[in-house]
Amino acid sequence: MIAAGPIGIVGGTFDPIHAGHLNMAREALRQLGLERVLLIPAGAPWQRIPQASAQDRLSMTLAAVNHSNILRVDDREVRRASPTYTIDTLLELRSEYGTQRPLWLILGADTFLNLPTWRRWQELLLHAHIAVACRPGYSLTDGNMAPSLKRELVQRGTSAAQVRGPAGAIVTLDIPPMEVSSTDIRAAIAEHRPAGDLLPPPVLDYIESHQLYQTGGS
Ligand code: ATP
Repeated sequence: MIAAGPIGIVGGTFDPIHAGHLNMAREALRQLGLERVLLIPAGAPWQRIPQASAQDRLSMTLAAVNHSNILRVDDREVRRASPTYTIDTLLELRSEYGTQRPLWLILGADTFLNLPTWRRWQELLLHAHIAVACRPGYSLTDGNMAPSLKRELVQRGTSAAQVRGPAGAIVTLDIPPMEVSSTDIRAAIAEHRPAGDLLPPPVLDYIESHQLYQTGGS
């Protein structure tokens, strides 16, 4: 008997959180039969400097899910003083959920292709499955994948229905590509172009009331 269902994990800078993140989380819930998805804003991401503060990015993520029990915000990386490494978060979650609970790390294709630059990336698959959502401009089939990642994909790639056990599989989610990024949203706001279609209304309200992204950034 399965005591408890699989847990999804969507980490991100969420600068700001947008429709692409939420669509990926909801589709993963449905396609992987997850019990819930944890949205984990990065506190101090080690590969970039966010434009909004960690506290604002956390607040926007909370506003986006509006007390949902299924999409839950986990603030552990914002509370962590040191730079954010996913392997540390995953090890914490694995010890909290026990060895048998399936954990799913949910990534956009751009992030998946970047995995070989992550600290101890191959260990991630010892503790979680990986689900990949397609993203316009990023393909998992052309020649732009690091050979080490390609080997993992060939060995571990499967369909959601075939996955057994708590960790170790790689599955591609069947999601229509969504042309939205935090970069585009920040630029739209700085240039006073409409961005409301790409953001949950409470996130747009938060951005406006806190005057975030008024000046262009990276
Ligand atoms: P930025 O434009 O600032 O780089 P972003 O839009 O890529 O931000 P992140 O917070 O860096 O957002 O992404 C968090 C996770 O969500 C990553 O795994 C990323 O690949 C994924 N993601 C973001 N936008 C999309 C999208 N439109 N479709 C699929 N995955 C996405």
